[in-house]
Amino acid sequence: AKDGGRDRAHAFDQAMLDQLNRRIAVIERLKAAVRDQKIQLHYQPQHRLSDGCLIGFEALARWNDEDLGTVGPDVFIPIAEQTGLIVDLGEQILRNACTDAHGWFKMLGSEAPVVSVNISPVQFARTDVSRSIANVLAETGLPAQLLEIEVTEGVLISEKSRVATTLTELSTMGVSIALDDFGTGYSSLSYLKALPLNRLKIDRSFISDLAKDTESPIVSTVIQLGHNLNLQVIAEGVETDTQVDRLIESGCDEGQGYYYGRPMPLAEVNTYVAGCAAT
Ligand code: C2E
Ligand code: CA
Ligand code: CA
Ligand code: CA
Repeated sequence: AKDGGRDRAHAFDQAMLDQLNRRIAVIERLKAAVRDQKIQLHYQPQHRLSDGCLIGFEALARWNDEDLGTVGPDVFIPIAEQTGLIVDLGEQILRNACTDAHGWFKMLGSEAPVVSVNISPVQFARTDVSRSIANVLAETGLPAQLLEIEVTEGVLISEKSRVATTLTELSTMGVSIALDDFGTGYSSLSYLKALPLNRLKIDRSFISDLAKDTESPIVSTVIQLGHNLNLQVIAEGVETDTQVDRLIESGCDEGQGYYYGRPMPLAEVNTYVAGCAAT
């Protein structure tokens, strides 16, 4: 029994060591990937619910490493945040997304889809977000009206006044601001009202509750709250036509999810946009 116990303890240490080594490997590879600009963007469509019109694309980071294989953003974004790599990575993502969206703008003019870029709380804490966005817009030629940033409620917890100043600067420039994953965080309602937000994104976890024949009082309440604050409301993680029906009944404005399309590489976006224009 004594030896068995020691084996278990040993196995536990080994598992922890494996995990640690894996993490160190990911950090090393991620450093190289950021340095060599290997992180790519995929784009997921966002549609108006009432008429199905395409209105924008969310930029989502993708990493396919030659050693580690595909690593999801749920894994590498937190590591990039913890190591500070998100500062360079976030800048690359912003520049690449605006460059791609400028291509859509050249094709379609002011009718072009808006690009939504996720900005990490760490970027707000460690960089001058409004200055780097102003620079990237000037460099790429993308009109500010075709850029939206997505911030999570987490960004509102720390340094509230600094974040509010930055968001106000961006809003004055014409950049839209969406509050991401709404309902999962801590934002106080008074603070919501004080910020220059344009959209609420209802978190996917609430949308998955919109099953057949089931009303979701939470979803309806969030939509009304958003409208009372003069915000557009978008649902994320929309997968079924039942969910679309429920969301339309509840007055939701827009939707994003597998029902409309999965995140796709830039090369597929043009075809997707053309298909939407034809219908
Ligand atoms: P998020 O910002 O909430 O992004 C939405 C996530 O939901 C994406 O996961 C998307 O692929 C997934 N999704 C979209 N529609 C559906 C659906 O109908 N059903 C289901 N089950 N899932 C759906 P993804 O791409 O794995 O990204 C995960 C998270 O990683 C993002 O959550 C975001 O927090 C973070 N992330 C991704 N790209 C970036 C980035 O460029 N910058 C920053 N700061 N964070 C990013
Ligand atoms: Ca997002
Ligand atoms: Ca989200
Ligand atoms: Ca989410």
